[in-house]
Order: sequence, then structure tokens, then C-alpha cells
Amino acid sequence: MLQNHLETRLDASQDPNPFHPSLVEITEASHNILLDLRYATKNNITGARIYHDDRCFIHADALVLLKRSVALAKEQGLRIKIFDAYRPRAVQEALWAHCPDPNYIMPPDKGSHHTRGVAIDLTLVDARGQELDMGTDFDDLSPRAHHGTSPISSDIAANRYLLLGIMMSAGWDFFPNEWWHYQAFNAYGYPLI
Ligand SMILES: [Zn+2]
Repeated sequence: MLQNHLETRLDASQDPNPFHPSLVEITEASHNILLDLRYATKNNITGARIYHDDRCFIHADALVLLKRSVALAKEQGLRIKIFDAYRPRAVQEALWAHCPDPNYIMPPDKGSHHTRGVAIDLTLVDARGQELDMGTDFDDLSPRAHHGTSPISSDIAANRYLLLGIMMSAGWDFFPNEWWHYQAFNAYGYPLI
């Protein structure tokens, strides 16, 4: 039922922007990033494909920050790989149904900053396209994914600090419980889309 609803809602692949005029599409070709939209695959915490297509959107204001991040990563010989950005409410509801824990998933009634278009989930990849070792997979909803977790190898800590430094330097705020999640500092100033 939910799956059908989502597929109906997200089946807009012919539309230049199926969601909202403030959202901009990000592609590998146009923004020098890599896309691995995990909710468009079965390789996510729900085990189901919850995006019907694999297009990626972000708020135009957050795109300004992302472009800075891409440039800073490039100076380090790295690229950014995006797991998720704008997230429709129906998808947030699906994630909440799977993991109703406000330490990791924002309740749909409160609204995720992803649904405001100003949050992003991402990692760094090296020149060969290999992800830097961050110690856990994306969406590992456990203390191992927290910033400052212990024990953790110095190499993994350094990789997380590198991503943190790039993102904070670019103007993003971080989330203590998820090394992959960043958001605009004024995220609550944006409406849910
Ligand atoms: Zn996130």
C-alpha cells in the first residue's frame, strides 16, 4: 500500500522538477559528484526500494553549500558521494515506520530537514572512486556511527574528521549521531516541501 503510494507520487521522471521550484536537481555530470541513492535501491535499512527513480534534488540554498564542499574535497583529491538529499514526507514516513527512534529518524510530524531540502547524507571517495573508510555503512543506526565514538581506529577517525572539516568549512551543521548527515545551520527556517 505504502509502496504503491510512493511509486505513484515519485513517478515523475519526465518532469524537469516534480517537487518544488526551490529544489534543484543534482546530477553526476552537472555537479561533479557521485550518486548512490540508497533509498532508490534495496540496499538500505528498510530492505526495500522506496524511491521510484534515482533522481536527486536539493534546495537551491543548500546547493550553494554543496558546491563549496565539492570544491574543498577536490583540493584534497577527493569527491563527494551522495546517499540522499531532498526526501519526500512519504519516504520519511517509511523510514520512521522501520525505525521509530527520534535519536536517528526525525518523526514525520516534526519533519526531517531532508524534507525541507536542506539536509544531505554523503561520504568521501578517493581518486579511484573508493569510499573512505568511515567505520560503518550509511544508516548504521548505532553508537558506532556517532561523532567522537570510541573505540575507533585513528584512520577512521581521521576520515570522519576530514569529512566534518570539509562540510563545516563549507558552512554545514553536523548531526552528532550520524557521520554521514549534514544540514544547513538555519534548517528550521525552511518549510517542509
Ligand atoms: Zn540525513
